Amino acid sequence: MNALRLLTLLCFLPLASLHAEDPNKTILLPLGVHLVTGVEMVREAVLRNGDTEKTVMNMPVTIEKAKLIMQQVNAIWAPAGIEWVTDPEQGGGGIVSEKAGGGKLSAERLKTLAEQVVGRQRDSKIRYMDRVFPALADPANNETIGNNGTFNDARPELYHLYLFPYIGQTLQGTAKISGTFAIVGVFSDKSPNKNGFPKARPHLIPAKSQPVLSLPNFPRDGSLSATIAHELGHNLSLLHVDEGMKDNLMKGHVKLRLGPIQIKKAREQAMKGPRIGALDLPRPVP
Ligand SMILES: [Zn+2]
Repeated sequence: MNALRLLTLLCFLPLASLHAEDPNKTILLPLGVHLVTGVEMVREAVLRNGDTEKTVMNMPVTIEKAKLIMQQVNAIWAPAGIEWVTDPEQGGGGIVSEKAGGGKLSAERLKTLAEQVVGRQRDSKIRYMDRVFPALADPANNETIGNNGTFNDARPELYHLYLFPYIGQTLQGTAKISGTFAIVGVFSDKSPNKNGFPKARPHLIPAKSQPVLSLPNFPRDGSLSATIAHELGHNLSLLHVDEGMKDNLMKGHVKLRLGPIQIKKAREQAMKGPRIGALDLPRPVP
């Protein structure tokens, strides 16, 4: 921890004195990042010649890589004065690699769930966010999920972000609006990748596009860091609105920036959910 960080931590304010509209406060939100392992997702597609091609998807993101991803997520959220804290020593939920279902699901159940995920279409009526993805989480690492693999009534202590190998056909992320549950697929067959042939997505906005929030080199297919920042925006009540920005985080073709109305809304929602507190830290000028 550097000296500035230590100094700012010492300046913790009582929660009661923090108001979402106070622009000089960075709101600290506790986040647990879950890298889900032990579930293989296999997407099959038929080639023109009639052969079948299989893509076998596991979890390629390591804890070290996830730390870098979260740095970029926080760079995207910094102009809103919102910081996602994963470090348990600072009140975060950690970045953990965990077995699907806590390693307690039968091989048959695990296979069924994986097949449901792989077969998921955009317009599916199956309640994936209530029935399938929570069942693939480890309930020991999420206070809002019971041992039966569905949500319980516990008051959330953290936001929970899950990285799964894949989350469904042409899909990249889903999140509960004004909730604390978000999921992102590491592999995607959304355009420009070919439908039926998922590829692992870039983890980061390329380093050459420094500063991070510059448009020109941002990959069109997005990166995990941008998708994660977008899904966390849904958790903070934001919808698909662009506020007139081509590179808006919630709607732009490249997803990076937040508009002033979104910043206000997100900060108001942040004050309603789990939080650690606020740092007396002026936020960067957008
Ligand atoms: Zn969205």
